[in-house]
Amino acid sequence: MRVLVTGGAGFLGSHLCDALIADGHSVVCADNLLTGCMVNLTQLVHEPRFEFLQQDVCTPFDPGKIDYIFHFASPASPVDYLKHGIETLQVGSAGTITCLDLASKHHAKFLIASTSECYGDPLEHPQKESYWGHVNSIGPRSVYDEAKRFAEAATMAYRRYHHLDTRIVRIFNTYGPRLQINDGRVISNFMKQALRVEPLTVYGDGLQTRSFCYVSDEIAGILALSRASEHLPVNIGNPSEFTILECAQAVLQVTGSASTVRFEPLPQDDPKQRRPDITKARTLLGWEPKVELHTGLQLSLEYFRDAVQSESTELRK
Ligand code: NAD
Ligand code: UDP
Repeated sequence: MRVLVTGGAGFLGSHLCDALIADGHSVVCADNLLTGCMVNLTQLVHEPRFEFLQQDVCTPFDPGKIDYIFHFASPASPVDYLKHGIETLQVGSAGTITCLDLASKHHAKFLIASTSECYGDPLEHPQKESYWGHVNSIGPRSVYDEAKRFAEAATMAYRRYHHLDTRIVRIFNTYGPRLQINDGRVISNFMKQALRVEPLTVYGDGLQTRSFCYVSDEIAGILALSRASEHLPVNIGNPSEFTILECAQAVLQVTGSASTVRFEPLPQDDPKQRRPDITKARTLLGWEPKVELHTGLQLSLEYFRDAVQSESTELRK
């Protein structure tokens, strides 16, 4: 197939491009480099089946015949989407419509990267796909949450009105090599702080929970869904749930760091708990995450060491 990956220079998009190339497909990556970077694609620049387009996907474009679109373009970390609030709303709305139109034009299949944020600060735990969510439509996180909820609605509408062959993946917190070290997410912050022997910044009392999925598991789940026929949302994430304090302990153990913990204020509308119910992915796709948090952090250690090292070299220049 000839596959378009929007947001392909980002963390997940670049791993997806790697996996699609490894599966024998041709890949066109469209990215405006808002939060992604070309370093994530270094391994693909000499690959003849790979093309890079520097492109804002909110503006209509046509890369030629396409068989499948993976729409991953969007700032994803709270720090990034709060900094780029309007761009986040635009890429989730106008960007999604542009990509859905492109899919209609080429009769291509379409898969949208949605998120556990669609559940907001959930009142149901763990979160099943049938849960409609608990989202503050006017709070600071709404630029992301509502853009993604719109993107899901648009995807379903193109299926209903234009008979497009669509998929929706609800991704839960994913980490691993290429997670930007300055995106403010908990794993990137803690790894960076531990490696610099600075205090780990725990927001609130640290008893809020998250479930962390290693990137290879996430990509395997997304590819399994892309090959299946399910068009309703499917959660892909790791159901092992940790408090943020437990996550800090895990990072300290894996890095062997002597860092301490420093408590800071909890951001507004920070969800108190998050854990995917993955029964649907297990049953429908035969998919199961394999990498537990300690192992995933160990597998990510070299990347974070190098990233911290190159950042301090840059700063000394
Ligand atoms: P990322 O910031 O690393 O990658 C996003 C990419 O999209 C970047 O390369 C950025 O430059 C690009 N982009 C943003 N706006 C664009 C535009 N208008 N036109 C073209 N490119 C644009 O983030 P990520 O973690 O790789 O997330 C990828 C997707 O997965 C996002 O849609 C995100 O909402 C979703 N997701 C990620 C997670 C996670 O834990 N990483 C969780 C839930 C959902
Ligand atoms: N968090 C934290 N310290 C940090 C960064 C994040 O305690 O330095 C907390 C944050 O308040 C949230 C959780 O870790 O409760 C996960 O935050 P992240 O930004 O990684 O993703 P979210 O799941 O909130 O989108």
